[in-house]
Amino acid sequence: MLSNGEFLLPGDNICNIEEALPGEGTYAASGLIYANVTGTVFMDKKKRTVNIFPKVRKPLVPKKGDVVIGQAENVNKHMTAIAVKYLNSQPVEPSYSAIMHISQCTRSYLDSMFDAIKEGDIIRGKIVDAHTIPLQFTTTYNELGIIYALCSNCGERLRYLRRGTLKCDNCGSIEPRKVAEDYGRARL
Ligand SMILES: [Zn+2]
Repeated sequence: MLSNGEFLLPGDNICNIEEALPGEGTYAASGLIYANVTGTVFMDKKKRTVNIFPKVRKPLVPKKGDVVIGQAENVNKHMTAIAVKYLNSQPVEPSYSAIMHISQCTRSYLDSMFDAIKEGDIIRGKIVDAHTIPLQFTTTYNELGIIYALCSNCGERLRYLRRGTLKCDNCGSIEPRKVAEDYGRARL
């Protein structure tokens, strides 16, 4: 059981169903109670319910060095555009675009963006310039790059094979990607 005032995000576990009843801003699933909104825990001892007081979020203004997670929407030889879904682990609603030039993708020379990113990939990047529209990001660091990708041949989830390479266990396709070091076990 978490204590009153603890800050939680949607989907965070609060306690199990024997400890309390699900109250406002919560839901129960498989014997556990979870936060349904971002906010702080409040245990109502009289009603024996746990509740989440929603936290009014400040608008998230992206700045240099912030971490974005988004889905590649538009990839051409020299540029990738993503739809940003998370900014520093906070959901972004509505989503906006960020772009990356090929020179910001990998540390080594890259001839074509198609050798590193495919449309639909989920990418973690770092903002390098927040004063432009769209924002500009980089994936040159080890912790940056693709964190989730599907096979472009059959649509199955790709598995990490080695640095810079993913493999499909379903059809055997081997695909080059700029892969983040925690590919396959990344948390948003
Ligand atoms: Zn495949």
